[in-house]
Amino acid sequence: MSSLKGFKRIQGFEGSRGRVNDKRINILDLSREQLVDWLAERGIAAYRAGQILKWIYRRQKDSFAEMSDIAKDVRALLPQHFRIPRLEIQAMQTSADGTRKYLFGLADGERIESVLIPERDHYTLCVSSQVGCAQNCRFCLTAKSKLRRNLAQGEILGQVRDIKKDLPQPEQLTNLVFMGMGEPLANFDHLLGALQVGRLDVAEGGKLNALQAEHDVQETAAAISGAEDGDTDRTLRRPLRGGRSGKGEAELGQERSSGRHA
Ligand code: SF4
Repeated sequence: MSSLKGFKRIQGFEGSRGRVNDKRINILDLSREQLVDWLAERGIAAYRAGQILKWIYRRQKDSFAEMSDIAKDVRALLPQHFRIPRLEIQAMQTSADGTRKYLFGLADGERIESVLIPERDHYTLCVSSQVGCAQNCRFCLTAKSKLRRNLAQGEILGQVRDIKKDLPQPEQLTNLVFMGMGEPLANFDHLLGALQVGRLDVAEGGKLNALQAEHDVQETAAAISGAEDGDTDRTLRRPLRGGRSGKGEAELGQERSSGRHA
């Protein structure tokens, strides 16, 4: 687990830990298709899903009540089933070159880091995909904490969403790299889910390079598994040696050398 040393504490932030008993579904954990299905079961048109996701990811709203182009009865129904949580920014550290490190608290008390890297005309965000890591790279501090758990899709997306909100020009966040805590391919379903929701952002006119990232993930998965051309979709649906549970990462790690750093 990362040390708090050097971080600037954020005062007065009402974090997510107090909401740990909230049984409503985190809407950031849903794919667009899941939201469409949920709405369809209640006779609500599919296009409402796109509107809702736009309010959450593009317009950064935390309340269904603010979604003014959604019918009032739907706006009233959604918060009975879903919440739109933020991660808890516990601390932040900015270095001399403008690189900003965020320490996020999760609802179960675990902590993860994300790093925002300023470039000449855009930002790159380095995102975590697991709490801890099983890969045991010798040079890496995260390896010392071992793997504690996979991040949920909403926790991966939450890093991007919350840091975008912190930027004066959020559209300048154009690049994502999964080089924070964890081995992203060992949390494959949630990684892909997060990228697919990110792709919606692109489809609606955003600039996030999630399409390229998803493509890269597919290529990498195919290369690891030895899939033939055109067979990557089947490969993607297959757990990578333990899949969602996170078990088996060490085996996967033996087949690749990671040049990444935490
Ligand atoms: S460098 Fe990356 S893959 Fe290796 S132990 Fe650290 S977080 Fe895991």
